[in-house]
Amino acid sequence: MENFSEYLSLTAAQQCILQHTATLGVEPVKLEKSLGRVLAESISSNRDHPPYDVSAMDGYALRAADLHSIPATLDVIEDIKAGAMPTKMISTGQCARIMTGAPIPQGADAVIRVEDTQLQSDGAVQVNQSAKPGADIRLRGENLRNGAVVFNEGIEITPGGLGILAMLKCAEILVHRRPHVAILSSGDELEGLHDPFDPNKIPDANSYTLMAQVQALGIEPTLLGIARDEAQELSQYLKRGLEFDVLLVSGGTSVGIYDFVRPVLQALGVQMHFWRVAIRPGHPLAFGTTSSSSVFCLPGNPVSGMVCFEQFVAPALRRMMGNPRIYRRTITAQLAHPIQHRPGRAEFVRVTLSRNDAARNAMSDDPACIAHATGSQGSGVLLSMAHADGLLFVPSDSHGLAAGSQARVQLLDGTSFQAHSGIEEAM
Ligand code: AMP
Ligand code: MG
Repeated sequence: MENFSEYLSLTAAQQCILQHTATLGVEPVKLEKSLGRVLAESISSNRDHPPYDVSAMDGYALRAADLHSIPATLDVIEDIKAGAMPTKMISTGQCARIMTGAPIPQGADAVIRVEDTQLQSDGAVQVNQSAKPGADIRLRGENLRNGAVVFNEGIEITPGGLGILAMLKCAEILVHRRPHVAILSSGDELEGLHDPFDPNKIPDANSYTLMAQVQALGIEPTLLGIARDEAQELSQYLKRGLEFDVLLVSGGTSVGIYDFVRPVLQALGVQMHFWRVAIRPGHPLAFGTTSSSSVFCLPGNPVSGMVCFEQFVAPALRRMMGNPRIYRRTITAQLAHPIQHRPGRAEFVRVTLSRNDAARNAMSDDPACIAHATGSQGSGVLLSMAHADGLLFVPSDSHGLAAGSQARVQLLDGTSFQAHSGIEEAM
């Protein structure tokens, strides 16, 4: 039986990393480039929007009191298009033809949609629908009120938020800087993507899985290449990597006699905070810092590296970018089959999710999704990750999960994050 007492728990390792992870400084960014960035300033409205009461419909602006008996016939005294101001006041028995977004003329208190009217040959309009005062009128300032705080610092800019910033004419905004991230693969057996084919070599996948995971967070990383399992060469590469805010090294962190990454980092002045976390896949994980850089030593097995990235690196990168939502969103899913597990390490099972038709019954407490493992769960089987919709969490103290039981699943859809991990372990 393996002894995991020296391993940090998932949550303890996450906490340790976050304790050593500060939000980066601030930079201006053009609105066009601001999607997904985190605001480093609060934004107040500098105008009322809409700037006056406007019509919500193409129709007729009129006095609701004129519609006490239906149909009612009203004189059309002018046309008001969006972008033009009304020139006449609406009196009893009158209305104005009005377009969506055009200002409501004085005297009018409601709009009737054109579909509820009939234009007559004499130019008057027959209105077939009554209305309450205020109907289909958008009030001045209903969207944005002059002087009101619209966004507090720390929100992530969504497409809708970006639209509001455009309405407020914020052509440039202050956001948190994105970290500069370097990625290094290590191992004598590795062959680069553009190297000649050698049947005895292992193609470097980790540079690219990690690159893609970093890109999915909106960061363009720098690939440093492949370092051989040789202390001096490794030292050169690691030194270069330490010039970045974050260095991700995969491979060479375990207990093999050629696993030099951790001692070489220490020789370069990196303070190592922990090694080994009680999770599977991915236990040979180490984390260290210098005054200006964080280093994650990730396991060489591609699946392990990716799982560790999701649990430890992604939260740190999002924290650096000022985002309060640092963890992947979790949901509860129902297991399609049993999962065997021995207490010791928490496990992340790669799963696909499908809709649970039983849960469509309104009285059902069943979760909306059914989880199926994606075939072989070996830590070298990258297809298990390639097909996964999520990572199903089996707590470290579990004795296995029965078919039909419920479990937490971290979604891997790339866009959903939440403030709390939803899968805390004892520390
Ligand atoms: P290590 O952590 O260096 O002991 O490597 C563990 C396993 O992961 C070995 O089978 C390596 O060949 C494999 N591995 C390490 N780095 C990579 C990489 N960049 N791409 C694909 N496989 C890798
Ligand atoms: Mg190796």
